[in-house]
Amino acid sequence: MFLSVKEMEARKIRFDETFPPGEIDFQADGIWQAGPLHALGTAELLAHTEGELRIQGRFEVQMDAACDRCLGRAVFPLDTSFDLFYRPASFIAREEEVEIDEGEAELGFYQGGGMVLEDILREQILLVIPMQRVCREDCKGICPACGKNRNETPCDCKDDPAGNRWAALQGLKDLKTL
Ligand SMILES: [Zn+2]
Ligand SMILES: [Zn+2]
Repeated sequence: MFLSVKEMEARKIRFDETFPPGEIDFQADGIWQAGPLHALGTAELLAHTEGELRIQGRFEVQMDAACDRCLGRAVFPLDTSFDLFYRPASFIAREEEVEIDEGEAELGFYQGGGMVLEDILREQILLVIPMQRVCREDCKGICPACGKNRNETPCDCKDDPAGNRWAALQGLKDLKTL
């Protein structure tokens, strides 16, 4: 859905949209959408600014990923609200060196006549999904010595002092490609 600045000049845009899995591409991010993404909110052009937009609302979706420890399914039900401000990209070009402070992460930029809602949602989902993606807090992971999933099959291996977990994971990948 395109949020057009021209339209915002006339009135605040209200959106209430549902995106089925596949409409927004997460392939490169190692996560996938497990159900419909529902987003609702408003997009408005702020008065007395040089084209600053405020986009606020909330979304609900379930995202899945492969568990970092056991490669099983890790589930992330998200229910998040957002309140974002965007300035036209031309604004920075004019101000030459504008210092963008890390603390101002909520301030973004847009180009052209507006913004695509799907792009905003994709960015927000990537922001809120945890960096550590585990299927459960106490996931025991894959045994570095024998390569078994310790959640399913406890094994008697001693902990590998070298911690060569990646070798075991690599071994699993090789098996899958055989
Ligand atoms: Zn796990
Ligand atoms: Zn083992």
